[in-house]
Amino acid sequence: MPTDGTRIDLRQRLLEADEQRVAGDLVRRRRHISQCHEAFVRCDGQRLRNFAGNDYLGLAHHPAVVAAMQVAAKNCGVGAGASHAVCGHHGEHSALEHAVADWLGYPRALLFGSGYLANLAVVQALLQPGDVCLQDKLDHASLIDGARLAQAKIVRYPHADAAAALRQAQAHPDGALLIATDGVFSMDGDVAPLPELATLAAQQRGVLYVDEAHAAGVIGPDGRGSAAAAGLTSEQAPLLLVTLGKALGTCGAVLVGPDWLIEHIAQTARTYIFTTAAPPALAVAALTALKLSREEAWRRDKLHALIARFRAGAHARGLRLLDSHTPIQPLPLGDNALAMQAAHDLQERGFLVGAIRPPSVPPGGARLRITLSAAHSEADVDALLAALEPLAAQMETRRDAAGGDEAAH
Ligand SMILES: *Cc1c(COP(=O)(O)O)cnc(C)c1O
Repeated sequence: MPTDGTRIDLRQRLLEADEQRVAGDLVRRRRHISQCHEAFVRCDGQRLRNFAGNDYLGLAHHPAVVAAMQVAAKNCGVGAGASHAVCGHHGEHSALEHAVADWLGYPRALLFGSGYLANLAVVQALLQPGDVCLQDKLDHASLIDGARLAQAKIVRYPHADAAAALRQAQAHPDGALLIATDGVFSMDGDVAPLPELATLAAQQRGVLYVDEAHAAGVIGPDGRGSAAAAGLTSEQAPLLLVTLGKALGTCGAVLVGPDWLIEHIAQTARTYIFTTAAPPALAVAALTALKLSREEAWRRDKLHALIARFRAGAHARGLRLLDSHTPIQPLPLGDNALAMQAAHDLQERGFLVGAIRPPSVPPGGARLRITLSAAHSEADVDALLAALEPLAAQMETRRDAAGGDEAAH
């Protein structure tokens, strides 16, 4: 049957989109990872030193974490059996929630299956159409998606620019205000201007929400994250998200906050209510990882020493890293194909490093995202630096060429 003429051929559109991805060096290919062991992975059959993951404290393979999960699976099975609200909320989930609330000094905690689901939950549950969600331009995709679900007005300020954020809040004086920011930015590794955002929130009667995905376990006293590192109280930063899949080496996410926020989210968030609870054994593993991250502070100390070593070595070799003092050490390259080539060359030399391209970063922002872990040794870091030397030389040549062009104009 003929259509009215405005029907779009979906297959055709998808094929065209695919062609554009190929032409723009934007295709994401999954690698097959096997035999991971701390700092090493076997990737498509090749053994590589892993500088691409988020296992910042080296806990994902810790024998105590693995054993805790094995024992718990034996005792309570693999699946939770239902959503939290029906009959899937186990004692193991509660124990983890209490431990995270205690650690961060917040009254209540709520466990989610992932950080992505938690961010959707927070923004969707707290905001309504007509409300304003003020966000850093580099916030994680899940925060944007949450605001879209809420049908709230999404107002994005230039990266880490708290003065611009204030102007934008003043320009949108109607509706409730939620200020949502990554604590440590996932692709840049820098830290949000939290004291200024907390002041803004207080002035504008807004709520500040900090996503501590890359900060929890890594920075701040006792690894409590970016809000604690900035010295903010639980009044100034009332709502925090700790994800469990990064420094805590497992999977899931825990939201902490006061009763009036957490209760409302638990009662209304669709990504909390309409999904099966995470396996209780996973909660036990995460609780074990949390204990280790607190008891073994040397992991953080070692991580920060490796970060300093890497930055000093990169500087000495003329590699221009972004200004980050977290385990995320991006090396901007700009061009998608160049980033892909650089990651490929590193792989040939035995290193797994992420080539990050749009839309994970803005157009022209392609980079190597090098991540460090307490599982690395000084020798691992030195070997990576040596492997980056040809790239340093290549970038130097490019800069000289660009500089020459500028001079000629
Ligand atoms: C990884 C990440 C998330 C998502 O967490 P998952 O548990 O992996 O779903 C959310 N926010 C930020 C900033 C992240 O980096």
